[in-house]
Amino acid sequence: MRQPLSLRLRLTLTVGLLTGAMALLFGLLVDPLLRAHLLEDVDARLGARAARLAELPAGAQSAALEAAEHYAALIGPDGEPLARSPAARAEPFALGPELLGAARAGQTVATTGEAADGTPWRLWAGPAQTDAGPGGVLILGEPIAAQQQMLAQVRRLLLLCGALAALVALGAAALLTGRTLAPMTQLMRDAAVVVSSGRYDQRVPVLRRNDEVGQLAQTINTLIATVEQTLRQQREFLADTSHELRSPLTVVLANLNLLRRDLDPHERELSVDEAATEAQRMRRLINELLLLAQSDSAQVIAEAPVRLDWLVEDVVGGVRRQAPEHIYQLQVDEPLVVIGDEERLAQLLRNLLENAAKHTPPGTTVTVRLQRSGGSALLTVADSGPGIAAEHLPHIWDRYYRVDKVRSRAAGGTGLGLPIVKYIAEAHGGRVDVASEVGVGTTFTVELPLAPEAAAPARQPAETWRA
Ligand code: ADP
Repeated sequence: MRQPLSLRLRLTLTVGLLTGAMALLFGLLVDPLLRAHLLEDVDARLGARAARLAELPAGAQSAALEAAEHYAALIGPDGEPLARSPAARAEPFALGPELLGAARAGQTVATTGEAADGTPWRLWAGPAQTDAGPGGVLILGEPIAAQQQMLAQVRRLLLLCGALAALVALGAAALLTGRTLAPMTQLMRDAAVVVSSGRYDQRVPVLRRNDEVGQLAQTINTLIATVEQTLRQQREFLADTSHELRSPLTVVLANLNLLRRDLDPHERELSVDEAATEAQRMRRLINELLLLAQSDSAQVIAEAPVRLDWLVEDVVGGVRRQAPEHIYQLQVDEPLVVIGDEERLAQLLRNLLENAAKHTPPGTTVTVRLQRSGGSALLTVADSGPGIAAEHLPHIWDRYYRVDKVRSRAAGGTGLGLPIVKYIAEAHGGRVDVASEVGVGTTFTVELPLAPEAAAPARQPAETWRA
């Protein structure tokens, strides 16, 4: 609840501040423009008055100046005043020497200042003809209190409007963000209920399909579904694993119980053999589980150049010795190098060959072929066994999936061989495929990306996986 509120607050404040800042900027732009405009008006009026005065004969001009209500003065070329109004008499140097000099030099100048009594005025000065010749300066002034008052009023009005706009924007933003965020808050509550209750079979309602909130709800539902599926898979996997471990354990315990009795040496040996076989099965299962756990935690596979052709020859040689009841044909077209973990790659091929040995009748042929196909190495293991029916094919990569559970177990299978093959191939950036026809045979294909040309292993494949 806190989070959306603070988001709401932040959005509202941002909108309010932005509006306030824009109003301020507007005021800052308008104020000097208005001020310049008002002063221009005054200057034009003073200029016009000066022009009218200039047209008067000298005597009348002096009289007009002397009688002027505001500041008015005619300064001679020598700097001496020729005629002045009372206001100019009171403040002879109001214009300042610099502007006076400029006016004398022929420019029209204007300035703003304050009279002795504190009223603001505008002084205008321009070159003037005098009796004594050119070089005179005519100074005219006018109070601008009214203009300044107006400016101050406009400023106050701008401030007020700005503050009001910011307030209205604040209110509108608060209202709007509140309305926009309300469904989000609801969505969050719904999702929190699912998470806290652990009822991943539930979904949050998707009310408005087409907007962002609706999309978020759909994404949350996808997430919940993923969690649900993962949890179910985990449960099933745990149940399957417990089941797989229970059978051999039962056999081991039964044999241990038998061994307590007074058995004859032959029976004793049989019993020990059976217990040992089942213990080995458990060890194999656990080893395979550990390997698959690595695939779940996405552990990186060791990376080094591997000569696949050497590896294939060595593994097939080893299997030939271990399972001699099948005929193994080997076709290796050319040296091929992939980047990866040679021990794992050897295990991949061994799993496929052991499957062929386990699931096809003795005396049949198993063909292993390694060839290049574009930028990949293609490794195929083809047998002429009973094949796998089409309905089973998509499932053989699943953990513990076996077409004939009893037969597979009897042959020492754990149901984890093919999932491991798939994991190893994919961990090497490759993929696996199977083609099978009942009564004809099965062909497994593993495609692995080839190493860049320069890569080549420095040594023969390791002894660990050979034979
Ligand atoms: P298993 O330990 O049972 O061999 P796998 O995961 O290696 O487990 O294989 C899964 C199932 O696929 C096997 O139980 C078997 O039914 C089927 N299978 C695998 N390879 C072959 C093959 N070459 N010929 C016929 N069936 C096979």
